[in-house]
Amino acid sequence: MYKITNSGWLEIITGPMYCGKSEELIRRIRRVKIAKKTVKVFKPVLDNRYSKKDVVSHSGNSIEAIPVDHPEEILTKINSDIDVVGIDEAQFFPDDLIQICEDLADRGVRVIIAGLDRDFRNQPFGPMPELMARAEYVDKLHAICMKCGEPASRTQRLINGEPAAFDDPIILVGAAEVYEARCRSCHAIKG
Ligand code: ADP
Ligand code: ZN
Repeated sequence: MYKITNSGWLEIITGPMYCGKSEELIRRIRRVKIAKKTVKVFKPVLDNRYSKKDVVSHSGNSIEAIPVDHPEEILTKINSDIDVVGIDEAQFFPDDLIQICEDLADRGVRVIIAGLDRDFRNQPFGPMPELMARAEYVDKLHAICMKCGEPASRTQRLINGEPAAFDDPIILVGAAEVYEARCRSCHAIKG
């Protein structure tokens, strides 16, 4: 790669659930630390999949992350000489994240953003589409389709074993709910 040296930049790691976004973010951040650069990783408070303070992949790797309520808080928690900022589960942040990431990159920071590109309804998710458009680098990863074994680009929501409907509520008390990776052919929305 012909490396950027005169500014920061935005790089995106995206795809469906289980495609390895957190694993890839953790790998990149570990290498930043090996290079003795300064780095902080942030995630939205509401993501408490495994740990409130860490980025944890489905395979069990983890790195420390700072939970923040609002993207503005990121600016208050870094020094002006920081080299790298990582953001996990970026799809859950409001659109204010976009300008904050652009400003950080303008200031010389390498900003690594991991997040879902689309929700279970196959709709673009939160600030991710605009961040992908603005980024210097975008990596779209694939998971493995849990029905047919093909590369999976979508996230399937299942409620009590059945595909969820487009407008099913996000929180369903008492229902057994799971998400799995699916390909275009196997992804289903009820209705
Ligand atoms: P993401 O952050 O994109 O949800 P993670 O990095 O947390 O993904 O997890 C990726 C890991 O999940 C894989 O390395 C693999 O061990 C596991 N995994 C479980 N189900 C699947 C699947 N359907 N396709 C690919 N990996 C899967
Ligand atoms: Zn499939």
